[in-house]
Amino acid sequence: MDFSFSEEHVALRQTVRRHMEEEAAPHVRHSDESETFPKHLFSRWGELGMLGARYPEEDGGVGMDKISDCIIREEIARISQAYCAAFSAHSHLGMWPIWRSGTKMQREEYFKPAVAGKKIACFGLSEPDGGSDIRAMKTRAEKVEGGWKITGSKLYITNAPIADFITLAARTKPDLSADAVSLFLVDLPARGLTIDNLKKEGLRGSETGLLHIDDLFVPDSHLLGEKEGTYPTILESLSENRVGVSASVLGLARGAYEEALQFAKTRIVRGKPIIDYQAVANRLADMTTDIEASRWMVYWGAWKVDQGTLTDAEASKIKLVASEAALRITENAIRIMGGAGIMRDHRVGMHHRDALVYVIGEGTSDIQRNIIARALKKGQLID
Ligand SMILES: Cc1cc2nc3c(=O)[nH]c(=O)nc-3n(C[C@H](O)[C@H](O)[C@H](O)COP(=O)(O)OP(=O)(O)OC[C@H]3O[C@@H](n4cnc5c(N)ncnc54)[C@H](O)[C@@H]3O)c2cc1C
Repeated sequence: MDFSFSEEHVALRQTVRRHMEEEAAPHVRHSDESETFPKHLFSRWGELGMLGARYPEEDGGVGMDKISDCIIREEIARISQAYCAAFSAHSHLGMWPIWRSGTKMQREEYFKPAVAGKKIACFGLSEPDGGSDIRAMKTRAEKVEGGWKITGSKLYITNAPIADFITLAARTKPDLSADAVSLFLVDLPARGLTIDNLKKEGLRGSETGLLHIDDLFVPDSHLLGEKEGTYPTILESLSENRVGVSASVLGLARGAYEEALQFAKTRIVRGKPIIDYQAVANRLADMTTDIEASRWMVYWGAWKVDQGTLTDAEASKIKLVASEAALRITENAIRIMGGAGIMRDHRVGMHHRDALVYVIGEGTSDIQRNIIARALKKGQLID
């Protein structure tokens, strides 16, 4: 059993950390205030190979591994979880299904430019009536001459207002069976599809859309894999992404912890730094313990992805632990910093708002518990 990162992993962490501190951090305050994402980061992330870390070189990726992808996400989110949400919606949710199930043409036209950061991707699954419950999906694709006509709506779609294409889920059969849900690749903007930019309390530095879809024509060649029934690909993709998302909430928790720790060492109250008060020190002790616990689960999960052995329940356990821990850690950071924690010239408030999104997005904590409980009923035990 070897728990250490390889030299390549350590070098990657340093590269991404430096990039985020020098090139991305200066934009974070403006992004949060203006609710905009600095699009140029995608081309930079493409140049640095960050978007393709976990994809093979023959597909335009960098051929590293899931552990590398998690290191990248942890470092992005340490500076801005909103930026990491944009990264995740693009490099995993939008791109992964194409890499996994796309035709040669779809990989050339969508995956390769996306991995280079030349096209921005988003992923449309959730709907006004179907967030937790994918099978409640109402968006319908009807077969017409030469393609499909899609009608429906998609809610809370990260990157939609800035994206060049969407990997869009729609029901190609009226029934609720698994093979009734398919994915389509749709260039944006598109006739028959309008996007409202949503205002949010968290992840304000990423852009999120509500999509109205009315008689949108999509040619046959843009049905993912030119095959109906990609529901299993979606589930597989969501499961793997729970590990990546957990790496990002670990990163945002670290960002908040580091700021609070620094503050606690330098803030003097009654003649001594507040870290010398046991109540403050104990909070910091809880925070660093939570971070270590999340970190081990996240990188164990990434290792399992690389081995091809990650189960849905394991992915859900990791997401549940990491996201709930991040919420506690960011709240503790604000408490430690007192009034300063509420002020916008510090980052802990933003990290806390962003942490809240992650007990909801990518499957709420209740849904993670349902997945874990389902596995228990099936008799899946801890190895
Ligand atoms: C900022 C943001 C960005 C997002 N980005 C994307 C994106 O890019 N693409 C995309 O497709 N989606 C995206 N989502 C959607 C996200 O995945 C959903 O919000 C999430 O799955 C929850 O769905 P919902 O909001 O409809 O909540 P609901 O499903 O309405 O849930 C409401 C409450 O009911 C509980 N609940 C529901 N069902 C059950 C159950 N069976 N058992 C127990 N409790 C239950 C939930 O836990 C929750 O507390 C994003 C969401 C946010 C907030």
